[in-house]
Amino acid sequence: MLLNFDAGPATLPREVLDQAAKAIMEYDNTGLSILEIPHRGALFQAILDEANALVRELLNVEQEYEVLWLQGGGRLQFSMVPMNFLAEGQTAGYIDSGHWAAEAIKAARLYGQTATVASSREERYKHIPQWAGIPPELAYLHLTGNNTIFGTQFRHFPETVVPLVADMSSELFSRVLDYDKFDLIYAVAQKNIGPAGVTLVVVKKALLDKGPVRELPEILDYQVLSRHNSVLNTPPVFAIYCSLLNLRWIRGQGIKELEARNGEKAALLYKTIDESPLFYGVADVASRSSMNVCFRAYSEEYTAAFLDFALKNGITGIKGHRSVGGFRASLYNAISLEHVQQLVNVIRKFEALAT
Ligand code: PMP
Repeated sequence: MLLNFDAGPATLPREVLDQAAKAIMEYDNTGLSILEIPHRGALFQAILDEANALVRELLNVEQEYEVLWLQGGGRLQFSMVPMNFLAEGQTAGYIDSGHWAAEAIKAARLYGQTATVASSREERYKHIPQWAGIPPELAYLHLTGNNTIFGTQFRHFPETVVPLVADMSSELFSRVLDYDKFDLIYAVAQKNIGPAGVTLVVVKKALLDKGPVRELPEILDYQVLSRHNSVLNTPPVFAIYCSLLNLRWIRGQGIKELEARNGEKAALLYKTIDESPLFYGVADVASRSSMNVCFRAYSEEYTAAFLDFALKNGITGIKGHRSVGGFRASLYNAISLEHVQQLVNVIRKFEALAT
């Protein structure tokens, strides 16, 4: 098997894959494959109930939050948030910290006004921009906790009276945070949760009650989706089941322990890059992400050569996003310190050959 540092779909724990593979052949002695179980029966209901309870437990949020498993990816959430909570004539605040944040702003403009309360666009998103004073009349404030493409991550979050909405796609379950600071969190599964095809939304009931601010198709209305417990239409049963398996794995590891391990992994890789004669880190040190480590070669001739060398040495998924180039190693929960050490060894070996 290759060691996969892709930003998503990303590496999942081996034991999760083993259990998922078994469930495809037969789910829990039912005589059915997990791919065949009915989505409105007791079997799937039990999967959903356990997954919802685990999400609340791991994020340490109570019953005042609804847990939804939706389709349409992060991109649909860019639109659903303003559709549901930004009325015409109102303004929503956005922190523009990277490509996905900017895409979320673009999507919101169809529904109301947007105010960019902080942006690091002019500095090529090398750091998390600093905000000063969040206007209290905003419909909500949206931020992207971890910027997958630029490798930056929030260390602290704005204090504000307006509902706080966070795209946590590339970091949910990777660190301990006061998640109840947030009124709505969303995260695509294909990074730290499970396979592509499902998006987790955790929303405070108080915010849910404020929407929808316009007439919406039922499938885009958080209230309706919540009333139907994520089963308005046929949900992606298998993706949710795999997410449950991974949530059990995360609980077994412990988020505190995962956070410590994620810190060690990132420190090891950043140290290697900082000491490298060939490579340098892209993000400002104070904003560096523990999830996506973005780096470049001083000399372009090494970019293709290193990708090729890495693959020959069993490492894949380290090509930077097509919009920025360079390299990106994603260190989500399922990547171990030993995996990172293997990547470091390959970097060192390449340096020895090239210099
Ligand atoms: N938000 C973030 C932070 C992301 O990294 C991504 C995808 N990499 C998205 C949103 C978009 O997700 P999707 O492709 O599932 O729509």
